[in-house]
Amino acid sequence: MTRLSAITPSGHVQLGNYLGAIRQWALHGGPGDLYFVSDLHAMTTPHNPSRLRSLAREQLAIVIAAGVPPESVFVQSDLVRELGALTWLLECTCSYDEASRMTQFKEKSDGRAGVRLSLLTYPALMAADILSQGAAEVPVGADQAQHVELARTLARRFNGVYGEIFVVPDAVLPPSGARIRDLCDPTRKMAKSTQNSAGVVFVLDPPDLVRRKIKRAVTDNMSTVEYRPAERTGVANLLEILAGCEGSEPEHAGESMRSYAELKDAVAEAVIETLRPIRERAEQLLSDVDELRLVREGGAERARQRCAYRLDAALRLAGAS
Ligand code: ATP
Ligand code: MG
Repeated sequence: MTRLSAITPSGHVQLGNYLGAIRQWALHGGPGDLYFVSDLHAMTTPHNPSRLRSLAREQLAIVIAAGVPPESVFVQSDLVRELGALTWLLECTCSYDEASRMTQFKEKSDGRAGVRLSLLTYPALMAADILSQGAAEVPVGADQAQHVELARTLARRFNGVYGEIFVVPDAVLPPSGARIRDLCDPTRKMAKSTQNSAGVVFVLDPPDLVRRKIKRAVTDNMSTVEYRPAERTGVANLLEILAGCEGSEPEHAGESMRSYAELKDAVAEAVIETLRPIRERAEQLLSDVDELRLVREGGAERARQRCAYRLDAALRLAGAS
């Protein structure tokens, strides 16, 4: 059974991506699972080519450094020819109405000039990502569930009209875990594309910078260290980060602490020590151009082989070759 998950290089990998996704991939991934850096998805809004290229490399290095088996990781654009072909078939299976009904398209395009056509069509690319690899399960948050639903619809339709070739995927809930919040604005989640990086801890941040960001985290004007996520969001977030790093429960993570300063010191040290081995290994990979290239080519080749049969059969069934 294949589970497929991706991370988009829309910014530097942040602590929430690691605790909430990449670490789970490393710890709980099955032998048939696949993970990829979805750099083509990052082209649906204005992008800078060299920054995108470098962010995609960085994400690949971090995913490998975090312990995800290299043979199960690939970069999406390394399969651009295969995915491009299948995206076309799926665009020819999808109606304009279905694509334009997607909530994310409506939200991201609303009132904007120069919206890229790919913002409308990328759910067909996402369906190609999923269907090309025969993924049976796709762990996604609420914002992507509708796109997996569309992939299901397109798989069923294609199978019904042309012949049974695609596995019909299920959207599954990702492993539960706290949503890490922005340190400067705990009302919103930490995200790699956030403009103000002061509230975002990046996996490759040097220890001093991590310490500084955590010291400046917004708390409240109380002083006792208690886990009250509804009223004391900033402190609760720090406790969730601490618990996430230590493998404890946020309710108990700060029990012995008497001040916010003490809490922040503990959080900073826990985050620094959690990220240290990943940062060091990722930096090593990023500086060893040949090693990273070999890992990348190996992952791409395996992913290509996995999708070749399905892609050829789909093209043939649809009358394209
Ligand atoms: P963007 O700003 O581009 O949306 P992001 O940081 O929200 O970036 P995504 O690419 O949307 O990251 O998500 C990648 C993975 O990281 C997903 O599995 C998502 O659930 C997880 N993730 C993202 N942010 C957090 C967070 N703050 N806490 C826990 N998990 C997170
Ligand atoms: Mg996001």
